[in-house]
Amino acid sequence: MKLENVLKNFHPKSPTFGNVAGCTSPDRLTGTDIMAAVGMTESQAEFGMAAFLAKNDVSEEDKFSTVEALTQYAKKITPKLVAKAAGKKLGYCLIILAKMAFEDYARSVGSVCRCSACRGKGMIDKKVTTTKYSTREAIFPSFSKRQPKRYTNTERDVVETERVICKSCNGKGQITHRCRCKGRGKVLDEEQTKLQGAPVFKDCPRCQGIGFKRVPSSVAYNAIKHLVPDLTQSSWSRNWKPFYEKLASKCFIEESAAEQAFSRVIK
Ligand SMILES: [Zn+2]
Ligand SMILES: [Zn+2]
Repeated sequence: MKLENVLKNFHPKSPTFGNVAGCTSPDRLTGTDIMAAVGMTESQAEFGMAAFLAKNDVSEEDKFSTVEALTQYAKKITPKLVAKAAGKKLGYCLIILAKMAFEDYARSVGSVCRCSACRGKGMIDKKVTTTKYSTREAIFPSFSKRQPKRYTNTERDVVETERVICKSCNGKGQITHRCRCKGRGKVLDEEQTKLQGAPVFKDCPRCQGIGFKRVPSSVAYNAIKHLVPDLTQSSWSRNWKPFYEKLASKCFIEESAAEQAFSRVIK
């Protein structure tokens, strides 16, 4: 049984609640057995278990403790040059990096988040400027009554708000981090398929096979630059970025440690 199956026990409303074992595992495990196994796994792989539950939105508390554990880990492995550059702000920097690294890791579930462009409404108010023309009779001092009537065109800009569908989320109000490969991480290799005459798949070039869009590290760079104004792009790439990426990987490593601990416990 995989850790993933445990989630059903945390979301009692899901229709398959209760005896998860019925479908996959030959031995009959009750919800209580499973929760006991989760407890034991937690004692062996606290970080990984919290990270796993946090990314699946089981509890807010797990999010805090994961970010906290990640911050502690970041403190331990801070490169000297990063510490030097951050100076007094190091503490803040580590918290920010830990939070962002966690977000990055949490995206792997194909989670959705509220669209920030429309604040989840799916529609946005767009200002539309239209130019209105009107024609009216020009007023000229009448030199001669026989002169034909003359007209002038006046134009003025009118600003109106129009509700339009939000382009960022296509009106859904939510943005999914899933890659266009539908989260599979694999796409059809058209060239090879043609050559071999049978479908050949390759790693999706958009997501490098991970199935979701990662938070670009430039987001973290900008956040840190706010705290450390002297930070240069090259120093970020050389010293900070590898450090930041280690934090996200740490979550994956700890999660797989929890997965292993769980499979030992559940046997
Ligand atoms: Zn939107
Ligand atoms: Zn992809």
